[in-house]
Amino acid sequence: MIPPAFDYHAPKSVGEAIALLGQYGSDAKILAGGHSLLPMMKLRFAQPAHLIDINRIAELRGICEDGADVVIGAMTVENDLIASPILRAKVPLLAEAPKLIADPQVRNRGTIGGDIAHGDPGNDHPALAIAVDASFVLEGPNGRRTVKADGFFHGTYMTDLAEDEILVAIRVPAFAAGTGWAYEKLKRKTGDWATAGAAVVMRMDAGRVTHCRIALTNVAPMALRATDAERALLGQPLTDASVAAAAQAAMAICDPAEDLRGDREYKTAMAGEMVKRAVRAAAARCQ
Ligand code: FAD
Repeated sequence: MIPPAFDYHAPKSVGEAIALLGQYGSDAKILAGGHSLLPMMKLRFAQPAHLIDINRIAELRGICEDGADVVIGAMTVENDLIASPILRAKVPLLAEAPKLIADPQVRNRGTIGGDIAHGDPGNDHPALAIAVDASFVLEGPNGRRTVKADGFFHGTYMTDLAEDEILVAIRVPAFAAGTGWAYEKLKRKTGDWATAGAAVVMRMDAGRVTHCRIALTNVAPMALRATDAERALLGQPLTDASVAAAAQAAMAICDPAEDLRGDREYKTAMAGEMVKRAVRAAAARCQ
């Protein structure tokens, strides 16, 4: 299908883009990689009269270190996350997991910022961001504010991002030495969204779990932090019983939509299985 007509704007700075957002309000949409927005426009689920293309804003792209944090520009594409030596050294989960997102063509254009700002529960970056304790830097007409990933996602296509704001960067604390991590994603075929996914970041000391973050993909209207599942592991040695208890606690908060990927019971059970696998894989990386 062909989308309705729209005016196209290509600002060269964040300030210019924010001014355009202010000028056109709810008639405007930011265009990043276009891999979520353009299909929605073709289906006429989204009909913006103004597209504000932020691809020419150089400051929004790239990965750097800032003290103990890694800062990822919102317009950084998936393939650049995968290839980043900084991410591989400091937050390897964010270099590995994007290999499970879509296909090489999509990963060449799709941006981490678009994946997060879209608020699609099927997207993988929301749960990954919660698991790595990321913060999002948002800029609007009143300047910048930084919000935690945990609490940013409110429902399908609903986030803390205001209509006149742009997500400019994702800040992630570098992993402490000995941090284990894993993302387990069940999908029907290469390129598909998750039937269920689990991201885990973990540390252990003297055989007990001392830090644990668990977040779930596509088993509720938004990415979920599984705090009860984390509690089932914290302070405990990792045993079959504690891992099963964590999986059970994660399943208890699932509220998946039924679709061609499966019914609620199946998706919930798969979320439990992904948690078990991700916890085991993360623990194996703790050293
Ligand atoms: P766009 O489509 O340009 O924008 C998406 C939305 O976010 C729009 O509403 C836009 O206005 C807003 N937006 C974008 N950037 C900003 C910003 N910086 N500030 C404020 N608002 C912004 N994703 C996954 O996570 N996992 C998958 O398995 C997966 N599979 C896919 C398979 C296919 C075949 C396709 C086409 C896409 C798939 N995707 C998947 C989605 C893909 O990763 C998208 O690229 C991503 O969801 C959106 O990023 P984008 O840069 O294309 O954003």
